[in-house]
Amino acid sequence: MHLSGQHYLVLGLAKSGVGAMQLLRSQGAKVSGADNRSLADLPDVHKLVENSEIFFSSDKEASLGHIDTLVASPGVPLSHPLIQQALRRGIRLVGEIELAYWFLRGPILAITGSNGKTTTTSLVGHILKSAGVASQVGGNIGYAATDMIPSSHFQQWNVLELSSFQLETVHNFHAQLAAVLNVTPNHLDRHGTIQEYARVKGNIFRNQCFSDWAILNAANHTSAAYSKSTPANIASFCGPASCISGNHIELFGKVLMPVSEVPLPGSHNLENVMAAATLASLAGAGHEDIASAVASFKGVKHRLEFIREVNGVKFYNDSKATSVDAALKAVEALPGPLWVILGGLDKGGSYLPLATPLAQKAKAAILIGSAAPIIESELKGRVTLNLCADLENAISMVVKQASPGDTVLLAPACASYDQFRSYEHRGEVFRQIVEQL
Ligand code: ADP
Repeated sequence: MHLSGQHYLVLGLAKSGVGAMQLLRSQGAKVSGADNRSLADLPDVHKLVENSEIFFSSDKEASLGHIDTLVASPGVPLSHPLIQQALRRGIRLVGEIELAYWFLRGPILAITGSNGKTTTTSLVGHILKSAGVASQVGGNIGYAATDMIPSSHFQQWNVLELSSFQLETVHNFHAQLAAVLNVTPNHLDRHGTIQEYARVKGNIFRNQCFSDWAILNAANHTSAAYSKSTPANIASFCGPASCISGNHIELFGKVLMPVSEVPLPGSHNLENVMAAATLASLAGAGHEDIASAVASFKGVKHRLEFIREVNGVKFYNDSKATSVDAALKAVEALPGPLWVILGGLDKGGSYLPLATPLAQKAKAAILIGSAAPIIESELKGRVTLNLCADLENAISMVVKQASPGDTVLLAPACASYDQFRSYEHRGEVFRQIVEQL
């Protein structure tokens, strides 16, 4: 694809935006970039601007005058005034995934879902690597899809983790294997309704045809329902393609491995394993290779990650449990008695689904961050609650009261941005405090 003579504006200049600018520039396009931060706060862009004909402006000053295509970074909502203005003017709007798709060589294996994306994507990457099936992994997982282009080739799978934000702006994108792990209320602040959120996630099946595969979760109503709207072959996990039968996982009608050999805790991780095994099998991995790779998978940081045991009390970091559903899965996955640290920045959903499982398993829920009063008002009278200013206070309070055999679980059910830079930062702070106990 040749872009010479075309003028692109990239809006939002974090990692993926900078990747997009470099790619467009290398393809001969004229490139401008805009961000609400100043150039001084964007060191990577600074270097680009100095070395080439890339123009920078603040997002308020950016002009659409000569622009053919606006590239929106996943962090920028479609309601952004510049995007709305571009859409009114009929300017083409694409996201980083669509852009990467234009240039990626090789088949695409794409994974989305409300929860479990990173775990499943990493596991698919691990299985394919162990099985000797050529692949590279990127997307929402931290390695921009545009960065995968130079190393892509026609005999190699591009394994992509995709968020709903990234799927909002795909057009020609076409995945040979596409999975929706589950759809539960999340990001409703951005997508408005669950129906709209599910519609956007369904974009992963866009342009699929009869020779492709849609991998769906038979145990999740919204995921299963995509079977009605895609012409692709259907492979359902928690269903005919892969299921739990007695003490074993089955894959395409054959025993894969004993459930007891899956190293990750919780029934949600069994779903992730079934999804990953189905995908890896369709991508060319054999049963034996899949089973041994699953058994040797170490899991992903900040996802139900065991930190250490202190005086008989176990500490788990599930800082990535930023939704109520993910926190619920963590509470279900670990044996009680639990002390669950909840709270952070509220995302607008209800915390009530946590009431019964916490009442059954938790000695107390410790509430931190700006969501604490909201969670308190919903769970009061049903769960023992303790309000603490921050993570440090929460841990020192729990340590004074916990007994040997108890488990302390950080599963906030909230975003982290009120007190931390990111969920990774929150998880690292938790780890550091626990390691110093
Ligand atoms: P994502 O990339 O979709 O956010 P992760 O694999 O990073 O998913 O896991 C995010 C959180 O969701 C973790 O707290 C994890 O324990 C929980 N989780 C993982 N898989 C599932 C699943 N299949 N269903 C529900 N929750 C899950």
